[in-house]
Amino acid sequence: MIDTHAHIYSAEFDNDQKDMIFRSKEAEVSCILMPAIDALTHDKMLRTEKDFPGFCYSMMGVHPCSISENYKKELKIAEDFFSKRKFVAVGETGLDFYWDVTYKKEQYDAFNQQIEWALQYDVPVVIHSRNSTDECIETVAAHQQGKLKGVFHCFSGNAEQAKKIIDLGFYLGIGGVVTFKNSGLDKVIKEIGLSHVVLETDAPYLAPVPFRGKRNECSYLKYVAEKLAMVAELDAKEVERITTGNAEKLFSL
Ligand SMILES: [Zn+2]
Repeated sequence: MIDTHAHIYSAEFDNDQKDMIFRSKEAEVSCILMPAIDALTHDKMLRTEKDFPGFCYSMMGVHPCSISENYKKELKIAEDFFSKRKFVAVGETGLDFYWDVTYKKEQYDAFNQQIEWALQYDVPVVIHSRNSTDECIETVAAHQQGKLKGVFHCFSGNAEQAKKIIDLGFYLGIGGVVTFKNSGLDKVIKEIGLSHVVLETDAPYLAPVPFRGKRNECSYLKYVAEKLAMVAELDAKEVERITTGNAEKLFSL
């Protein structure tokens, strides 16, 4: 399985990162993709990538919650990284209207800019769309001329939104939320199937049942796969095969 979205370089793993990686390998995770947040953590992310070669891969970008008055500086730093080396994706970027809407205009500007990088470097864009799913869909649609690819990470919308995303050629990142009671995601999955689904933990956040509320880690990815298997009425192995194939295709792994 591929964990397409995990913040394993965050402070929550400072004491046991190596053990956590070991547990994830035991739990049949074959690869972890790390979203960038901002300049405060880029170095730590890149160090983690170096510590686990061929297993952890870095994205590069600026998280919408890190967009404020200095956002152009943040963008410049991320852009400089792109000119130096290859990254598995642009991200995470997007719009977050849940925590704060003070910098809405700046969030849009940064999102548009980062979508342009994805096109320029021919890599997928990893989208954070908290309280902004429709706005993110519109933004992607405005840039989509057939070449843009990416994923709506931690998708939590309805079936109609899921279909629009798939029509745009994008994927849905599904994680622990699908195991929560009343998330509604089970109905969405039943309707759209798994052809555009990739797995993610979003560790250390959003741990699946039975660990809901605790620190999440990549080895818990199997609980997401098991829940999807139940919902889609498939064997868990089949879910792993389909979603791993989707992730390999999307991220060129
Ligand atoms: Zn994230």
